[in-house]
Amino acid sequence: MVEIKSDASLDAMREAGRVVADALAAARDAAAVGVTLQALDEAARAVLTAAGASSPFLGYQPSFAPTPFPAVICASVNDAVVHGIPDGYRLRDGDLVSIDCGAELDGWTGDAAISFTVGTPRPEDVRLITATRQALEDGIAAATVGNRLGDIAHAVSRVARRAACGMPEDFGGHGIGRRMHEDPHVPNFGRPGRGFPLRHGLTLAIEPMLMSGGRNSYRTDPDGWTLRTTDGSRAAHFEHTIAITADGPRILTLP
Ligand code: MG
Ligand code: MG
Repeated sequence: MVEIKSDASLDAMREAGRVVADALAAARDAAAVGVTLQALDEAARAVLTAAGASSPFLGYQPSFAPTPFPAVICASVNDAVVHGIPDGYRLRDGDLVSIDCGAELDGWTGDAAISFTVGTPRPEDVRLITATRQALEDGIAAATVGNRLGDIAHAVSRVARRAACGMPEDFGGHGIGRRMHEDPHVPNFGRPGRGFPLRHGLTLAIEPMLMSGGRNSYRTDPDGWTLRTTDGSRAAHFEHTIAITADGPRILTLP
């Protein structure tokens, strides 16, 4: 079931989204060569705690997962696409890091992700990050009243295709509100003019995941969570929670 939110509910979701943005900024600020992924999780966790927010990631166990998720962020490095578990890995010069974070505040949820490099960036990683951010921006720009989910998917996939990047076939964005994952599914592949119609008060998480090797295939680590590229190429991930409004898309997870 798709819940259309009132304007007051959108304002409440904006507050949850602000906490997500702050937690992502804290994780990014903590990232440096030699720092563990667990330290990034702790930085994000401190922001959630200080804001009185809880984590929709911590303890989350979807049907595909063998264990509850043990952290408040996903930390996916280099060939990891999404869902990496922050562990004792120490960041190295040139690593490409994707951090995904959620927050629940006063009964409403936000979800966002960023990718960045640590130390000296490889030029191809800078291009990949730029393309992935552009895919998110184009997807958001297509999230307007009167458009359909397929228009968002088409906008995202066009950027990926032009950048010669692949995207994991079975993963995309989602409706979001009282819970992190709600209807509808927001695919990253689709045809314009098709799918669920967008209307004022619909809230979505849009999240392109681009894989630089160009394939759409992925594999799952033995931990049952981490998605990796099958060819070892690097991946990037950006996500915002947005509201479709009569005034255009409203990004709820900006700082
Ligand atoms: Mg996310
Ligand atoms: Mg999401």
